[in-house]
Amino acid sequence: MNLNYIKPDEWKIIEEGFDKENVTASESIFSLGNGAMGQRANFEEQYSGETFQGSYIGGIYYPDKTRVGWWKNGYPEYFAKVLNAPNWIGIGVKINGTTLDLNTCKVIDFSRELDMRNGVLKRSFIAEFDNSDMVKIESVRFLSMSIQEVGVIRYSVTPINFQGEVEFTPYIDAGIVNEDSNYDEFFWEILDKKEEENEAYILSKTLKTGFLVYTGMKIEFELNDYIINIDKESEVSDKKISNSYKTEVNSGDTFSIVKYGGYTQSMNHPDAELFNVSKRRLNEAAELGFDVLLEKQQKAWDKIWDTADIMISGDIKAQQAIRFNIFQLNQTYSGEDSRLNIGPKGFTGEKYGGSTYWDTEAYCIPFYMSTKDKDVARNLLIYRYNQLDKAIENAEKLGFTNGAALYPMVTMNGEECHNEWEITFEEIHRNGAMVYAIYNYVNYSGDLDYMASHGLEVIIAIARFWSQRATFSEDKEKFVILGVTGPNEYENNVNNNWYTNYLAKWCLEYALENIEILKEDYPEDFIRITKKVQLLETESKVWENVAENMYFPFSEKHGVYLQQDGFLDKELVPVDQLPKAERPINQKWSWDRILRSPYIKQADVLQGFYFFENLFDQEAIKKHFDFYEPLTVHESSLSPCVHSILAAKLERTEKAYEMYLRTSRLDLDDYNHEVHEGLHITSMAGTWLSIVQGFGGMRNFDNTLSFDPIIPKNWKSYSFKIKYRDHTIKVFKNHEGCKFYNESDTPIDIIVSNKTVTIQNTDLVIL
Ligand code: BGC
Repeated sequence: MNLNYIKPDEWKIIEEGFDKENVTASESIFSLGNGAMGQRANFEEQYSGETFQGSYIGGIYYPDKTRVGWWKNGYPEYFAKVLNAPNWIGIGVKINGTTLDLNTCKVIDFSRELDMRNGVLKRSFIAEFDNSDMVKIESVRFLSMSIQEVGVIRYSVTPINFQGEVEFTPYIDAGIVNEDSNYDEFFWEILDKKEEENEAYILSKTLKTGFLVYTGMKIEFELNDYIINIDKESEVSDKKISNSYKTEVNSGDTFSIVKYGGYTQSMNHPDAELFNVSKRRLNEAAELGFDVLLEKQQKAWDKIWDTADIMISGDIKAQQAIRFNIFQLNQTYSGEDSRLNIGPKGFTGEKYGGSTYWDTEAYCIPFYMSTKDKDVARNLLIYRYNQLDKAIENAEKLGFTNGAALYPMVTMNGEECHNEWEITFEEIHRNGAMVYAIYNYVNYSGDLDYMASHGLEVIIAIARFWSQRATFSEDKEKFVILGVTGPNEYENNVNNNWYTNYLAKWCLEYALENIEILKEDYPEDFIRITKKVQLLETESKVWENVAENMYFPFSEKHGVYLQQDGFLDKELVPVDQLPKAERPINQKWSWDRILRSPYIKQADVLQGFYFFENLFDQEAIKKHFDFYEPLTVHESSLSPCVHSILAAKLERTEKAYEMYLRTSRLDLDDYNHEVHEGLHITSMAGTWLSIVQGFGGMRNFDNTLSFDPIIPKNWKSYSFKIKYRDHTIKVFKNHEGCKFYNESDTPIDIIVSNKTVTIQNTDLVIL
């Protein structure tokens, strides 16, 4: 596998030259998505070499039977899997009867390009066959942002040095399996196949979950830009419909197939209408035609980039990387549908099962909140609100009562679907992230109505959980939280993980505070909610007591909170003293050795300092950073960004930049040798945070937006925009100073490096 084969470019991801070793990595890197569906960048034509085929539909999953060594009471019955969906991109190609296959022919001038500006994937190459016939192939593909159930491909063949027969065999194939199926089961049942002229449809249903999906294709042909008709030979097998079309093509002529395809599914339409909608969508798309759809695609991306773009001058690789991260986040989640969420790998692979993790609340929400309309982040919160009943059931299964909720660590529909005991039962800090996200959203947007309409119910249920999960230690005369795993998953079953205890205390206090606010400001909602959840006055007293008397492990000697009880018993040898050959430790060491070591997978205590920075002084942040960062191996993609932000806060620009680099090109340069499995979508939000909150120093406390920009040495300048309440604010920073511009009509006061300034729609320059 070649690292660094992606060519630098400001707006494009470019691969030049064909290397079979890179195929599966590129299939991830060049992935496409439009929020409703996504796919790996698999070739349209047959490829007999190593490939990882993947096409996914938002919200469609399968509860795969779990595989565990020793069953424990309370384990979920299944592990939800995002389903590899039927293939609609396939186009078999034969030239004079020989199959085009990049694994067997000679490939010349191969280039692949992901045009992030416009959301389009392009590929071109010359294939030379054994008899020296050469053809030029060009393909252009995109998943429409304007008709989200449709994608389009224009695939062109130009014979270079011969005249001969070109045969296209477009197909749709529902005989698809998941690579990660636990028992090699087939997850789809095929219910119907329909064929009409140049259209074909397959209806399939997911086993167990019963989602219905029509996969369709509609095709047209062009010879040198003129539409032509060709008779087809059709072949229908059990799970696949293929149509073959042959024509004679002169040397230099271009024969193209335009294939419209995609999915309509039962989450979005009544079952009885699915077929008609599917047909209608493809025909609408075909009527508009490839070029008009492409124009619409460009417009849709223009709109996204208008607010989401970050410009970096003086470092082309950094520019490419940040746009790649922003592009992939927008491909994964478009924000209209509160039933969808953001899997750690988005639509680019099967790992993590496409399920929802705390990553959304802890990392992704700020990105969507600042670059899109407020409804988008709100929809992510509503997703969890709608799963509150399941979170209460989940807590009940574990023995909690009185409407206490424990949100799952991993979920598709609100049920826990992960069954490593240390994660399922112990990694309860995720429950706090649900509340933190509500706080973050309400604080940033000023949308207190959300607290009244949805937020408080969730917060009460979670406060009930923490008050029951904390137990009173007679010995310490404090409340303790025993047997947990913090964000640092390299420690299990520890007592008093500082981050968890702190979050629990904060959640309880936040619940109490909002109860008071709603009582005053939203009395009707308050009465409705308290009735619904049967909140008793006495509960507040209990919460107050637990919060006030929470125990926090602290070292007088080091002046820092300890990650957990007993942390100082470990041999605190910094990571930089570990031999390189022993890293990453999760691949080189036994689990037992990892657990006994002091090494930290990802921000844990520091996650708390990141979330609650305003509650600590700079000296405390510095002390904790200096104590914990040297012990951190950053073996989760979610780790470097938090450290980058804190380092920037401490004005350690170089450290912030070092950490930033680890997050921003993680996939493009394949640092962890795993990009072939898919992209790290949720940590991409962390990259955005590293610039906006890290270098840009953006914060939002007490209804005021503040900035404290710094700039890495080797950048000339950078700029970003954020949406904040009714304003869109542009921030520019170079080595001379910074500049703020308010795109809205009304002025706004912000704080820049501790001074209040008013910004309007003329540049405010601060040197
Ligand atoms: C991290 C978790 C994260 C998960 C999914 C794990 O490696 O430790 O914090 O939620 O990946 O991204």
